[in-house]
Parts: sequence; structure tokens; C-alpha cells
Amino acid sequence: MADHDDNPFGRGGMSAGEVRRIATGADPMGTWEQVQADVITSVEALLAELGLSAADLPASLRAAADFPLRVPRSYAQRITPGDPADPLLRQVLAAPEEVQPVPGYGPDPLAEAAHTPVPGVLHKYHGRVLLVVTGACAVHCRYCFRRHFPYSEHMPTPERLSRALDWLAQQTDVSEVILSGGDPLSLSDRRLSALIEALAAMPHLKRLRIHSRLPVVIPGRMTPTLQEALTSPRWQSVLVLHANHARELSPGLGAELAPLRQAGVTLLNQAVLLRGVNDRLADQVALSEALFAAGVLPYYLHQLDRVAGAAHFAVPDQEALALHRALRGRLPGYLVPRLVREVAGDEAKTPLHEAL
Ligand SMILES: *Cc1c(COP(=O)(O)O)cnc(C)c1O
Ligand code: SF4
Repeated sequence: MADHDDNPFGRGGMSAGEVRRIATGADPMGTWEQVQADVITSVEALLAELGLSAADLPASLRAAADFPLRVPRSYAQRITPGDPADPLLRQVLAAPEEVQPVPGYGPDPLAEAAHTPVPGVLHKYHGRVLLVVTGACAVHCRYCFRRHFPYSEHMPTPERLSRALDWLAQQTDVSEVILSGGDPLSLSDRRLSALIEALAAMPHLKRLRIHSRLPVVIPGRMTPTLQEALTSPRWQSVLVLHANHARELSPGLGAELAPLRQAGVTLLNQAVLLRGVNDRLADQVALSEALFAAGVLPYYLHQLDRVAGAAHFAVPDQEALALHRALRGRLPGYLVPRLVREVAGDEAKTPLHEAL
């Protein structure tokens, strides 16, 4: 994962108390940038915050040296203190298992390097193109398949971005552009608006899609400027959130998303199936129901990509299929996400039962 040099809010100048007031919503003047800037970046600090001790601190520290820890305080506050098995904690705390090599787990499990016509662009599927608009994320997820992605080679410098836009302007069979990263919503509204404006000038683009974990992780991210960009009549807009557990959804999320929903923006969620996080039926039922209560439909449940350092999160395929079958027996069809695996070279995400 890239560092946050391109993120003007990466270095906060506030006192912890000030930021905490904002993060908890007590300060109406607090901006999402301030919430995002208040992060825990060391294993020791996170453990201390939660009253925990490390199982194997040296190995965790080596894992964090390889892929830095990054946990917004607003997220850490949703973790149950004193519980080392908390499903939110497991997603963000560097674990000793990460440094053990596991056969079949490598740095680029999806062979993304083979699908980059120009730096910063991933074109794998018909009609849609993914733009890597930043390497920065508000939170670092330990299972992230892009944890070894060479963001420095794809960093959207003005020249690279303008080359990517030039390329996209020529692709008249592409009707959907997906802003991705990193997390595209970690960019400032000013930069996002400028980017979306440049895309709006390409008549072949009909749909604007954003894949982001920010609205889940950072309360207040859906600013009026961002809402305006997404609800513009120029676009059919889709916002795909990324939440893996019901407890990640803050109580205010539904209200924050309501203006988008009312303006006709399609709101979806993708999750990753993770051992010890959401691998029980009750977790999946609760996630789907909490999403729907916030106006969001489950879209994909991804079988873990085999990225080095994440093997301890893997759920065996047969178990995943059984879980999915049980979920279908419990929920209406529209609350059951598609269980998929990304198979390098396939022309779409592959339903897990076809990927075996
Ligand atoms: C997942 C992905 C998409 C989107 O796939 P959908 O099935 O349309 O959600 C597009 N491009 C790339 C490179 C992807 O990895
Ligand atoms: S927010 Fe997304 S891209 Fe960033 S670390 Fe988490 S999973 Fe990876």
C-alpha cells in the first residue's frame, strides 16, 4: 500500500481530544478530513487503546513493517475493548500469521499487471474500466488483495492521470467508469469533482461507479459536494460500499446515504468472506439486514484472493458454498450476495460453484 503523501489530510495538527469530539459527532464543525486524519498507526498503540496484549508482538511488528497499520479512531471505537477475537479488530490488526509464507499465496493473485493498458487503468471486463485514482485508503485491511500492489508505478500523478483520461476518451465501447484505488473517496472533493468533470466530457460514458470503504469507516464522508457529483443528471451513478460485518455500519450511515438513495443512486455492498470475521451464518444474516436497513443491497461476497499474508483469513470453498446455501434458506433473494471468486483471465467474477 502506498503511503499518504498525496493525501493533504494525512498529518493532523489537532489534539486527540479535539479529534475525538469530532469523531463522535459531538462537534458539528468537524469535517471528515479531520476524522480521517486521526489514525492509529502502530500495533502497540492499538493494543493499548483496547486493553489487549499481543500474542506474538515481534511477528506482528514485522507484518506491520511490510504493510503498515492504519486504523481511524472512529473505527477503533467500534471495536469491543478487551476482546482479541473482535471481528473488526481482526480486519485491521497486523497478525503474526501474516509473515508465514503459504504456498499458492503471492503478491499479485489476480495478475492485474497483465490488464493495465496504461498506468492507473485496469481493463479486464467488457464495457467497464477501473481507474486507480489513488493509492491511499482510510483504513488498511489486512486481507487486502492489493496490499502488495505497486501503487508507486500507478500513482495518479497529473501526467499519468491525463494519459489515462486520454486513453479512456478513445474507448468508445466503454460505458462505465469505476473509480477505485486505494480508496477513491480518500481524495478531496475538489480533486474528485475535477476528475468527474473530466469524465463527464466523454459522451460514451453512461455510468459512474465508485468503490469505497470510506462511507463505512469515516462518518461524514458524504458531503454535499460529493452528493452533488453523484446525483448529477449526467450520470447513472452506483456506489459500492465495502463492509464485512454488521457492526462496522455506524448508526448514522442510513441517514447519510438517504439523499443519494432519494436521488436514485444505486447503493450496493461488497464483502470479503473472512475466517473469524463473518464466516458464521449469523454474521452474514446480520450484515445483509443491517445493510438493507441503511438502504444498501448486498452485491458480492468475495472468496478471498490468495494474496501473500492473508492465508489465515481463508474459508475453504466447500464451507463457503455451504454457508451461502444456508444464507439462501434464511433471507429473501435480494438480500443474498453473489458468492464469487475472481479467477485471473475470466471475463467476469466467477460464481464460486463454477470456479471449482
Ligand atoms: C471487479 C472488477 C470490475 C467490476 O466487476 P462487476 O462484475 O461489474 O462488478 C471491473 N473491473 C475490474 C478490473 C474488476 O476487478
Ligand atoms: S479499503 Fe479497500 S483497497 Fe484499501 S486496504 Fe481496505 S480493502 Fe484494500
